[in-house]
Amino acid sequence: MYILLMGPPGAGKGTQAAKLVEEFKIPHISTGDMFRQAVKEGTPLGKQAKEFMDAGKLVPDSVTIGIVKERLAKADCKKGFILDGFPRTLEQAEALGKTLLALGINLTRVVNINVPHGDLVSRVTGRRICKSCGRAFHVEFNPSTKGENCDACGGQLYQRADDSEATVVNRLSVYDAQTQPLIAYYEQQGLYTEIDGRQPIDKVYEGVVKSLKVERA
Ligand code: ADP
Ligand code: ADP
Ligand code: ZN
Repeated sequence: MYILLMGPPGAGKGTQAAKLVEEFKIPHISTGDMFRQAVKEGTPLGKQAKEFMDAGKLVPDSVTIGIVKERLAKADCKKGFILDGFPRTLEQAEALGKTLLALGINLTRVVNINVPHGDLVSRVTGRRICKSCGRAFHVEFNPSTKGENCDACGGQLYQRADDSEATVVNRLSVYDAQTQPLIAYYEQQGLYTEIDGRQPIDKVYEGVVKSLKVERA
């Protein structure tokens, strides 16, 4: 199963991806996570990405496309993957199309988790991430039962540097200008499904799985 998860910042892509990983045991490929890891490790990629991320801007296509191509060529992607947060521009979508063609892979579905902008600022500013396992919580909408620590692994929760109100506003306008046009692109390819991301997490998940038309255990 080759799934592409789309949606504005805070729509719930990472949350849904974690549930898909658990059920379908396929790798979760998040360009945001890859960049954050590189920043943490202080690699050349991290140094390049950091200023764009902090400003709520997109990392340049040439850089982003390169890391995704490398990742998709790995053996664990052969049986499926969940792409989260890539592509975000038409150029990235076209590069992805070429890469998948060369690998002989057809996307199963492009699932867009749609949440109105008005709901996204509080989603993003209330987000807390586990330092150890990367799981996302929300101080109000999806709190950990262990307070400042992760429900799943006990790791410490932290707030992403770019999850401030000012940066989110930038990220939303970048989304409108650069990523929104991908909806028409994938509609034309007959791959597009939209899910109402304002529903509770489990309801959103039901919609996502339904759109994949797969047999479940
Ligand atoms: P969110 O989960 O809020 O949508 P991500 O974790 O996906 O955010 O991305 C965080 C930041 O990483 C983005 O604001 C951008 O700077 C960078 N980034 C992630 N994916 C891409 C991409 N496909 N193209 C360019 N930049 C990206
Ligand atoms: P994205 O990866 O699209 O940026 P996340 O999965 O990190 O989004 O979710 C953003 C925030 O919203 C997190 O704090 C998460 O716990 C919360 N969240 C995710 N899905 C829902 C939902 N359906 N309803 C309410 N809050 C949600
Ligand atoms: Zn954890």
